[in-house]
Amino acid sequence: MTALWTCPFCPLLCDRFSVAASPVEASPAVSPGASAGACLVLQGSDCTRARDALARFGPGGTALPQVGARQVTLDVAVATAAEWLARSRQPLFGGLGTDVAGARALYRLACETGAITDAAHGRALMHGLRALQDRGAFTTTLAEVRERADVVVCLTGSPAERLPEFYRRCGIGEAMDGEPSARHLVMFDGAAADAERALPQSLPGVTTEALAWHGDLFTTVSVLAALVARRTVRDALPALAALAARLRAARYAVLVWEAAALPAHGALVAEGINTIVGTLNRSTRSAALPLGGSDGAATVNQVFTWLGGLPLRSRLGPAGLEHEPHRFDAARLLADGAVDALLWVASFGTEPAVPQAAVPRIVLGHPRFAPALAGAQTVFIPAATPGVGSAGHLFRADGVVLMPLTAVVDQQLPTVADVLARLTLAVQALRPARAVA
Ligand code: SF4
Repeated sequence: MTALWTCPFCPLLCDRFSVAASPVEASPAVSPGASAGACLVLQGSDCTRARDALARFGPGGTALPQVGARQVTLDVAVATAAEWLARSRQPLFGGLGTDVAGARALYRLACETGAITDAAHGRALMHGLRALQDRGAFTTTLAEVRERADVVVCLTGSPAERLPEFYRRCGIGEAMDGEPSARHLVMFDGAAADAERALPQSLPGVTTEALAWHGDLFTTVSVLAALVARRTVRDALPALAALAARLRAARYAVLVWEAAALPAHGALVAEGINTIVGTLNRSTRSAALPLGGSDGAATVNQVFTWLGGLPLRSRLGPAGLEHEPHRFDAARLLADGAVDALLWVASFGTEPAVPQAAVPRIVLGHPRFAPALAGAQTVFIPAATPGVGSAGHLFRADGVVLMPLTAVVDQQLPTVADVLARLTLAVQALRPARAVA
């Protein structure tokens, strides 16, 4: 029998499936004894995202640390990385694909070096964060959607495209106490035909409706906000007016949006959605369900916030703690040559790619990065993947549930936290004058 496994490959963190090792014997979820050469096969779901991710842990997935094209010991790799960080006047920590323990270790090293931190999905993360900082937000959990939501509005297309188990996780079309709950699912997309295509096929108990945006997403949300507040909007689409009435009449309406699907200035969309939710809560019950923060981004953001009081895109600089949601954008800093060293952490997979940069790069991540990182000025240290090669913890998409992860294979690799702890000590040894926070 295989034990249940928590999948770390998207922020839903599904915990009702299992993994079998093939061709070697399946091992307990799977088992700490499964070899790094085993193929890992998802059981209980057809999720393509998880299957593709697990396929990257097959044979050939181990690697040694390397400095440039030279394979080295972990000690040499850490010593080289420490020298580069100690020399750096403004390092950047990017990617940030790790779990709670890795994030805690990253925070200590960031304080030690004055590094700016930004996740690989930092731009998407900032949309919701900026709206939250400005005016607050009322959000819900997957369990509450499952138990209570009678109207679910997906504003940025089908969440199942990026999070394939979305509907099952929310209980949409699933039997509750023997009967599927009656729900109305509204799907928005740029064009009505796209929205129609994005609707799931015949979910029991679910009525559906496909709507095109009113112009663009910004206009759609602002018009809907006005209509929900019973303000007069000239030329409002009748379908939007009907949706506003449906939302006001709902027992519990949930507005779903994906940070990664928002355009530039998406914080305005997030703020508009929060306004709709706030208006509805004066007379009924409603909440937003923002989906994002994959590859550890939401987890690292939470950890940095509780340790330092500020979210990502911050640094402990000469002026103390600074938070710059625009200026500390990793891609912009690299393009502008505003940093002189990059530490990139990507322990969940090989996407997104490590940025090309004309500065020394230290990469902690999935072993399959190795061939692409054999160039000069790069230290690569392969690290275990939380939920595959090591235990760990990640925050789920709804932000309030911290899920424990178990190892399913012995990757024979150190964790990101282990490597960063050694790196921090090595940097301290080179720069004894600076105190660790
Ligand atoms: S939906 Fe996400 S968490 Fe669930 S199995 Fe697929 S990738 Fe994993």
